[in-house]
Amino acid sequence: MKNLVKFSRHYGSNISLVAAGGGNTSMKENGVLYVKGSGSALATICEENFVALDINKLLEIPKRTYPAGDKEREAAFLNDIMASKMPGEEAKRPSVETLLHALFPQRYVLHLHPSIVNGLTCSVDGKTAANRLFPDAVWVDECRPGYTLAMEVSNLLTKGVNTLLLQNHGVFFAADTPEELDAMLKDMIKVLQEEIDKNYTAAFDKAPALDKPFTPDHIVYCGTGPDLPDTENARLLWEDAKKIAKYTASFGGQRPMAEEIVDFISHWEAESYRQKQA
Ligand SMILES: [Zn+2]
Repeated sequence: MKNLVKFSRHYGSNISLVAAGGGNTSMKENGVLYVKGSGSALATICEENFVALDINKLLEIPKRTYPAGDKEREAAFLNDIMASKMPGEEAKRPSVETLLHALFPQRYVLHLHPSIVNGLTCSVDGKTAANRLFPDAVWVDECRPGYTLAMEVSNLLTKGVNTLLLQNHGVFFAADTPEELDAMLKDMIKVLQEEIDKNYTAAFDKAPALDKPFTPDHIVYCGTGPDLPDTENARLLWEDAKKIAKYTASFGGQRPMAEEIVDFISHWEAESYRQKQA
């Protein structure tokens, strides 16, 4: 557990990797998943901010049938995740991405929203470039978060996969030691930086127009209105969006989130919960 807290804070305090309440980490031990609580910041996380859940119960969830209506389905899905908590954890709410952590068999999972990685995942040619640069990583097309994303990943995750690139969202790494996670993250950043340096032209430095969100964090902390909220988190995420926009120039240009997904997230209870924790 000390290891988990240590590496969570290490990555959480690096603003180019994750900001505000974004990203999450987990560890598995004796059939129990310890995953970050929803909305808590990785930078300052403590042992008690992790939620303990029964992995076997979580892995039953993808086999179930859920109601068709968005609200009913997300509520039932959340209910089943909450019901997987270990005794004594009743008051806690685990990360919205809990099931993804459980689906990886590896001991540790690190999920971040690095600006440079999202320069790839939020770009027009992101998928093609990802397949070329990271042939072993699994690319997950943009989809609704929560139940839909969990089911997508449950279908795509085959044996031996240890990296997921989520379009307009971020990256998941899974490994049995924190050292391996660290090496995987550093390798990915190095490959992307080399690619960006190779493609660079002065035109990339022009301030790009930002009128649509790139990732769920931009919706949660910057809002969808014309004015940026007067908060530190909004400013941090705005800087992140500007960096992403520049990086996308190396991969065919910006690809903001689809309207339908923006609309879904703007009305999703799980994200308004996360916003309130900030
Ligand atoms: Zn995420």
